[in-house]
Amino acid sequence: MSGSWFQIQLLEPDTYVISEWSHWEQTHCYLLLGRERALLIDTGLGVASLRPAVEDLTGLPVTAVLSHAHWDHIGSLGEFDRRLAHALEAPWLSGSFPLSPRAVKSNLLRESCPFPPGFDPEHYTVYQGGVTGTIADGQVFDLGGRTVTALYTPGHSPGHLCYWEDTRGALYSGDLLYRGKLDLFYPTTDPAAFLTSVERVAALPLRAIRPGHFNLDVPPELELARDVLLAAQSLKAQGRLHHGAGIFDFQGFSIHL
Ligand SMILES: [Zn+2]
Ligand SMILES: [Zn+2]
Repeated sequence: MSGSWFQIQLLEPDTYVISEWSHWEQTHCYLLLGRERALLIDTGLGVASLRPAVEDLTGLPVTAVLSHAHWDHIGSLGEFDRRLAHALEAPWLSGSFPLSPRAVKSNLLRESCPFPPGFDPEHYTVYQGGVTGTIADGQVFDLGGRTVTALYTPGHSPGHLCYWEDTRGALYSGDLLYRGKLDLFYPTTDPAAFLTSVERVAALPLRAIRPGHFNLDVPPELELARDVLLAAQSLKAQGRLHHGAGIFDFQGFSIHL
Protein backbone atom coordinates (compact mmCIF):
# COMPACT_ATOMS: atom_id res chain seq x y z
CA MET A 1 0.00 0.00 0.00
CA SER A 2 2.62 2.50 1.07
CA GLY A 3 4.75 1.68 -1.97
CA SER A 4 2.14 2.98 -4.36
CA TRP A 5 1.11 6.00 -2.27
CA PHE A 6 4.61 7.41 -1.82
CA GLN A 7 6.78 8.36 -4.77
CA ILE A 8 10.45 8.07 -4.01
CA GLN A 9 13.22 9.86 -5.83
CA LEU A 10 16.95 9.66 -5.29
CA LEU A 11 18.37 13.20 -5.12
CA GLU A 12 21.94 12.20 -4.26
CA PRO A 13 23.43 8.73 -3.71
CA ASP A 14 22.58 9.08 0.02
CA THR A 15 19.50 11.33 -0.07
CA TYR A 16 15.91 10.46 -0.92
CA VAL A 17 12.79 12.55 -1.25
CA ILE A 18 9.57 10.73 -0.38
CA SER A 19 6.60 12.53 -1.91
CA GLU A 20 2.81 12.39 -1.79
CA TRP A 21 2.08 13.78 -5.24
CA SER A 22 -1.49 12.39 -5.41
CA HIS A 23 -2.69 14.74 -2.71
CA TRP A 24 -3.15 18.46 -3.38
CA GLU A 25 -0.67 19.29 -0.60
CA GLN A 26 2.13 17.50 -2.50
CA THR A 27 4.03 17.01 0.72
CA HIS A 28 7.69 15.93 0.78
CA CYS A 29 9.71 14.09 3.40
CA TYR A 30 13.47 13.66 3.09
CA LEU A 31 15.60 10.72 4.14
CA LEU A 32 19.29 11.51 4.65
CA LEU A 33 21.65 8.58 5.08
CA GLY A 34 24.95 8.77 6.91
CA ARG A 35 27.32 5.91 7.63
CA GLU A 36 25.74 5.15 11.00
CA ARG A 37 22.39 6.82 11.19
CA ALA A 38 19.60 8.21 9.05
CA LEU A 39 17.65 11.43 9.49
CA LEU A 40 14.05 11.62 8.33
CA ILE A 41 12.85 15.19 7.89
CA ASP A 42 9.04 15.28 8.28
CA THR A 43 6.66 12.34 8.18
CA GLY A 44 3.91 13.19 5.70
CA LEU A 45 0.14 13.20 5.84
CA GLY A 46 -0.34 9.91 7.67
CA VAL A 47 -2.62 8.60 4.94
CA ALA A 48 -0.31 5.63 4.40
CA SER A 49 2.28 4.20 6.74
CA LEU A 50 5.68 5.76 6.08
CA ARG A 51 7.91 3.46 8.10
CA PRO A 52 7.80 0.48 5.69
CA ALA A 53 8.74 2.82 2.84
CA VAL A 54 11.69 4.13 4.88
CA GLU A 55 12.77 0.62 5.87
CA ASP A 56 12.78 -0.37 2.20
CA LEU A 57 15.42 2.33 1.70
CA THR A 58 17.65 1.87 4.75
CA GLY A 59 18.42 -0.47 7.62
CA LEU A 60 20.08 2.35 9.59
CA PRO A 61 18.51 3.60 12.82
CA VAL A 62 16.25 6.52 11.93
CA THR A 63 15.70 9.76 13.82
CA ALA A 64 12.53 11.52 12.69
CA VAL A 65 12.70 15.31 12.97
CA LEU A 66 10.01 17.83 12.10
CA SER A 67 10.28 21.07 10.19
CA HIS A 68 7.16 21.97 12.14
CA ALA A 69 4.14 20.31 13.70
CA HIS A 70 1.40 21.09 11.17
CA TRP A 71 -0.88 18.13 10.45
CA ASP A 72 0.51 17.54 6.96
CA HIS A 73 4.07 16.90 8.25
CA ILE A 74 3.39 14.81 11.36
CA GLY A 75 1.21 12.01 9.99
CA SER A 76 3.59 9.08 10.53
CA LEU A 77 5.68 10.57 13.35
CA GLY A 78 4.41 7.99 15.83
CA GLU A 79 5.85 5.16 13.72
CA PHE A 80 9.41 6.16 14.65
CA ASP A 81 11.10 5.43 17.97
CA ARG A 82 13.14 8.67 17.99
CA ARG A 83 10.91 11.62 17.14
CA LEU A 84 11.91 15.22 17.71
CA ALA A 85 10.48 18.70 17.23
CA HIS A 86 11.14 22.22 18.46
CA ALA A 87 10.08 22.70 22.09
CA LEU A 88 7.54 25.40 21.16
CA GLU A 89 5.58 22.90 19.08
CA ALA A 90 5.99 19.80 21.24
CA PRO A 91 2.67 20.56 23.01
CA TRP A 92 0.94 20.54 19.61
CA LEU A 93 1.90 16.86 19.43
CA SER A 94 0.50 15.90 22.81
CA GLY A 95 -3.00 17.23 23.24
CA SER A 96 -2.77 20.89 22.19
CA PHE A 97 -2.95 20.75 18.40
CA PRO A 98 -4.08 24.26 17.35
CA LEU A 99 -6.55 23.21 14.65
CA SER A 100 -9.85 21.40 15.23
CA PRO A 101 -10.23 17.84 13.86
CA ARG A 102 -12.96 19.19 11.57
CA ALA A 103 -10.67 21.84 10.08
CA VAL A 104 -7.92 19.27 9.54
CA LYS A 105 -10.36 16.91 7.83
CA SER A 106 -11.65 19.63 5.56
CA ASN A 107 -8.05 20.42 4.54
CA LEU A 108 -7.32 16.74 3.96
CA LEU A 109 -10.39 16.39 1.73
CA ARG A 110 -10.21 19.79 0.02
CA GLU A 111 -9.58 18.26 -3.40
CA SER A 112 -10.56 14.79 -4.58
CA CYS A 113 -7.74 12.34 -4.13
CA PRO A 114 -7.19 8.63 -4.88
CA PHE A 115 -6.46 7.68 -1.28
CA PRO A 116 -4.79 4.30 -0.81
CA PRO A 117 -7.00 1.23 -0.31
CA GLY A 118 -7.92 0.77 3.31
CA PHE A 119 -7.64 4.46 4.19
CA ASP A 120 -10.83 5.86 5.66
CA PRO A 121 -10.86 9.66 5.92
CA GLU A 122 -13.63 9.37 8.54
CA HIS A 123 -11.15 7.81 10.95
CA TYR A 124 -8.27 10.18 10.17
CA THR A 125 -6.76 11.67 13.31
CA VAL A 126 -3.86 14.01 13.98
CA TYR A 127 -0.86 12.40 15.68
CA GLN A 128 -0.90 13.22 19.40
CA GLY A 129 1.60 10.72 20.82
CA GLY A 130 4.22 13.31 21.74
CA VAL A 131 7.95 13.59 21.03
CA THR A 132 10.91 11.80 22.59
CA GLY A 133 13.02 14.96 22.64
CA THR A 134 13.27 18.52 21.41
CA ILE A 135 15.51 20.33 18.94
CA ALA A 136 17.28 23.62 19.61
CA ASP A 137 18.62 26.19 17.16
CA GLY A 138 22.07 25.14 15.95
CA GLN A 139 21.69 21.53 17.06
CA VAL A 140 23.86 19.27 14.93
CA PHE A 141 22.81 15.79 13.86
CA ASP A 142 25.86 13.64 13.22
CA LEU A 143 24.84 10.81 10.91
CA GLY A 144 28.38 9.44 10.61
CA GLY A 145 30.40 11.20 7.93
CA ARG A 146 27.55 13.61 7.39
CA THR A 147 26.22 16.39 9.61
CA VAL A 148 23.00 18.37 9.42
CA THR A 149 22.27 21.50 11.47
CA ALA A 150 18.85 22.61 12.67
CA LEU A 151 18.11 26.30 12.09
CA TYR A 152 15.35 27.93 14.10
CA THR A 153 13.27 29.76 11.49
CA PRO A 154 9.93 30.79 13.02
CA GLY A 155 7.21 32.67 11.17
CA HIS A 156 5.15 30.07 9.33
CA SER A 157 4.83 28.43 12.75
CA PRO A 158 6.33 29.33 16.15
CA GLY A 159 8.78 26.42 16.27
CA HIS A 160 9.64 26.05 12.60
CA LEU A 161 13.04 24.56 11.77
CA CYS A 162 14.98 24.35 8.54
CA TYR A 163 17.80 21.83 8.20
CA TRP A 164 21.09 22.94 6.73
CA GLU A 165 23.83 20.78 5.28
CA ASP A 166 26.67 23.23 4.87
CA THR A 167 29.10 20.93 3.04
CA ARG A 168 26.54 20.60 0.25
CA GLY A 169 24.85 24.00 0.45
CA ALA A 170 21.52 22.20 0.83
CA LEU A 171 18.64 23.74 2.77
CA TYR A 172 15.67 21.57 3.75
CA SER A 173 13.29 24.47 3.96
CA GLY A 174 10.03 22.96 5.27
CA ASP A 175 7.22 25.49 4.83
CA LEU A 176 9.49 28.54 5.04
CA LEU A 177 10.26 28.43 1.32
CA TYR A 178 8.59 26.61 -1.54
CA ARG A 179 7.15 27.41 -4.94
CA GLY A 180 3.51 27.98 -4.06
CA LYS A 181 1.36 29.96 -1.65
CA LEU A 182 3.41 30.73 1.48
CA ASP A 183 0.96 30.74 4.38
CA LEU A 184 1.32 33.46 7.01
CA PHE A 185 -2.33 34.01 7.82
CA TYR A 186 -3.09 31.58 10.66
CA PRO A 187 -3.20 33.08 14.16
CA THR A 188 -0.08 31.07 15.05
CA THR A 189 1.98 32.56 12.22
CA ASP A 190 4.23 35.58 12.70
CA PRO A 191 4.92 37.59 9.53
CA ALA A 192 7.69 39.68 11.14
CA ALA A 193 9.48 36.55 12.36
CA PHE A 194 9.06 35.07 8.88
CA LEU A 195 10.93 38.01 7.38
CA THR A 196 13.78 37.57 9.89
CA SER A 197 13.93 33.83 9.15
CA VAL A 198 14.03 34.34 5.37
CA GLU A 199 16.77 36.92 5.89
CA ARG A 200 18.73 34.33 7.81
CA VAL A 201 18.50 31.55 5.22
CA ALA A 202 18.92 33.90 2.23
CA ALA A 203 22.35 34.81 3.67
CA LEU A 204 23.52 31.18 3.44
CA PRO A 205 25.59 29.97 0.47
CA LEU A 206 22.60 28.06 -0.93
CA ARG A 207 23.16 25.55 -3.69
CA ALA A 208 19.90 23.62 -3.29
CA ILE A 209 16.54 24.29 -1.66
CA ARG A 210 14.53 21.19 -0.77
CA PRO A 211 11.00 22.34 0.00
CA GLY A 212 8.24 20.82 2.13
CA HIS A 213 5.68 21.05 -0.68
CA PHE A 214 5.11 21.24 -4.42
CA ASN A 215 7.67 21.62 -7.16
CA LEU A 216 10.99 20.00 -6.25
CA ASP A 217 12.75 21.89 -8.96
CA VAL A 218 14.11 24.91 -7.08
CA PRO A 219 17.38 25.50 -8.89
CA PRO A 220 19.87 28.00 -7.41
CA GLU A 221 19.42 30.32 -10.37
CA LEU A 222 15.79 30.80 -9.30
CA GLU A 223 17.09 32.50 -6.17
CA LEU A 224 13.86 31.70 -4.39
CA ALA A 225 15.21 32.74 -0.98
CA ARG A 226 16.32 36.12 -2.28
CA ASP A 227 13.04 36.68 -4.14
CA VAL A 228 10.90 35.79 -1.11
CA LEU A 229 13.09 38.08 1.00
CA LEU A 230 12.64 40.98 -1.42
CA ALA A 231 8.88 40.33 -1.55
CA ALA A 232 8.53 40.27 2.24
CA GLN A 233 10.68 43.40 2.56
CA SER A 234 8.56 45.24 0.03
CA LEU A 235 5.35 44.19 1.82
CA LYS A 236 6.84 45.46 5.05
CA ALA A 237 7.77 48.78 3.41
CA GLN A 238 4.15 49.12 2.25
CA GLY A 239 2.84 48.41 5.75
CA ARG A 240 1.25 45.15 4.55
CA LEU A 241 3.31 42.52 6.36
CA HIS A 242 0.58 41.70 8.87
CA HIS A 243 -2.32 39.30 9.33
CA GLY A 244 -5.34 40.04 7.17
CA ALA A 245 -3.46 42.04 4.54
CA GLY A 246 -4.45 39.59 1.78
CA ILE A 247 -2.79 37.36 -0.81
CA PHE A 248 0.07 38.84 -2.82
CA ASP A 249 1.37 37.22 -6.01
CA PHE A 250 4.98 37.25 -7.04
CA GLN A 251 6.98 35.44 -9.72
CA GLY A 252 6.78 31.74 -8.80
CA PHE A 253 5.16 32.11 -5.36
CA SER A 254 2.60 34.08 -3.40
CA ILE A 255 2.34 35.23 0.20
CA HIS A 256 -0.92 34.82 2.11
CA LEU A 257 -1.18 37.19 5.06
ZN1 LIG B 1 2.90 24.26 7.60
ZN1 LIG C 1 3.04 22.12 5.10
